[in-house]
Amino acid sequence: MNETEKMPVLFIGHGSPMNLILKNKFTASLAELGKNLPKPKAIMVISAHWLTTGTHVTCMEKPRTIYDFYGFPDDLYEIEYTSPGSPDDARYVKELVQKVQVKCNMDWGLDHASWAILKHMYPKADIPVFEMSLDYSFNEWHPKPLQYHYDLASELIGLRKRGILIIGSGNIVHNLGLIDFRNIDAEPFKWAKEFDETVKFNLINKNHKDLINYQNMGKEASLAVPTLDHYLPMIYTIALQEKNEQLKFTYEGFQNGSISMRCFQIG
Ligand code: ZN
Repeated sequence: MNETEKMPVLFIGHGSPMNLILKNKFTASLAELGKNLPKPKAIMVISAHWLTTGTHVTCMEKPRTIYDFYGFPDDLYEIEYTSPGSPDDARYVKELVQKVQVKCNMDWGLDHASWAILKHMYPKADIPVFEMSLDYSFNEWHPKPLQYHYDLASELIGLRKRGILIIGSGNIVHNLGLIDFRNIDAEPFKWAKEFDETVKFNLINKNHKDLINYQNMGKEASLAVPTLDHYLPMIYTIALQEKNEQLKFTYEGFQNGSISMRCFQIG
């Protein structure tokens, strides 16, 4: 990478932790990405599974593997992802972001929104990884507006020029209440496909305002995004798209009926 180049930005629909031990088209697409992307200096994952008050980054040298999933086969709890952290880059995020005071965290680690995908992308775990949390605080019952997250994310652009791969890890459609736990290949719901298609259209056409105001995307929106946690990492990813940059889908599909596995790359 020379000085004028920027690292791409990814959104990964991570889906079920079962993908850790499965070989399917989705996990193959992750392995392909790992092979084809320019080698990052470090990776920052914005995780759907790290919800905090305020915005935090992990600053430890050796992040632990967090098994934040329950009732899965024993094998999954024996897998470790031992990549080093990147305290210097995490502290750089604190300097970069002006909108809010980003806090350094020494307790968290890597939850499955990061390591379950990185295990396929970078199986050697030789690239430093740190996480950024989602501010899930409420003000009089109202969560932070999506525009707030979008504006905060746009301040992260300097990381791309520093050779850091930013990955938003969530799912565009994520309804656990209606999930078919037993069948990963279950036929997707009609509303799930419709919402996913509308998001796809808006991503292709760079309609960021529409993606931010997702409630206006039809009645499927409340079923597709019953809570913001898995949708927000996508908002962070698109906020880093510059005017001339293309977006390409690196994976499309569904798992368990109500989870969109759509993934994309910007730049
Ligand atoms: Zn998840």
